[in-house]
Amino acid sequence: MSKIGYSTMGFRDRDVDAALDAIAAAGFDQAEILGQAPHLEEPPSGPALADFRARLESRGLDGGTVHAPLKRNVIGAPEEGWRREKVGVLAAYLRFAAAIGAADVVIHPVPNPCFVPAADHPDTPQLIADAVHRSLDDLVPLAAEVGVRILLENLPYHCPYPFLTMKELRPLVDPYPADALGLVIDTGHAWTSKHEPAAEIIAAGSRLAGTHLQDVDYDDPQDNHWLPTHGGLNWDDIRAALVEIGYTGPWTFEVLNGRNEETPEELARITREVANRWEL
Ligand SMILES: [Zn+2]
Repeated sequence: MSKIGYSTMGFRDRDVDAALDAIAAAGFDQAEILGQAPHLEEPPSGPALADFRARLESRGLDGGTVHAPLKRNVIGAPEEGWRREKVGVLAAYLRFAAAIGAADVVIHPVPNPCFVPAADHPDTPQLIADAVHRSLDDLVPLAAEVGVRILLENLPYHCPYPFLTMKELRPLVDPYPADALGLVIDTGHAWTSKHEPAAEIIAAGSRLAGTHLQDVDYDDPQDNHWLPTHGGLNWDDIRAALVEIGYTGPWTFEVLNGRNEETPEELARITREVANRWEL
């Protein structure tokens, strides 16, 4: 039986404890905990950390994954001061994930151009590529030491930056140990940049260790984060691709928006029904 997870991003209208309560109530096996406001803006430490872990266990949601903070928190920052600062932030989330027994930490490799001062400068893609390698050399040994795996996510930006797709990410992760570095496929990101999600899953292959299952419109996809089967993606193809590569990681749903004005509770409940129908 596969583990079925739900991101706390589905409950951005409440704090992390209320979000985790709702995920447990909807019948999920595990949660992906968002490492930024309104959830964990700072990783808890000391007694607060022990309490957090105990509350996760009491809900039956231990294990699971942590989503490192988004926005400027990337490994591929094209300025060295920015890169070093974020390596420190991401290292804290790796240690936090290990402390709560999470297996994987999702990290965005590359910045959205909207955060890059010299976004269109011709040297920027190479600066980002160099920074990604340097940051992995900093962070992968720490992940191995504390016993978590970094998962790099495909991103939907329309720009000439490297490492946005699984085709580029797979050779990036290959030289590093598989138990410390893997890949997470975001199905909606793939199609927003007009890459077939199933082909991206095949490209990630044996290094795929996580999923962000979300639907987008077929025409003019806009990273919609609809509930899977409420948009235009071909879920039979996506599931077949995951079976084809022998995927054994969690099926994590990253549903943010209701097509039909569903409440967050309704979205989680209907998502769980979809997962039941798929007989994962
Ligand atoms: Zn995602």
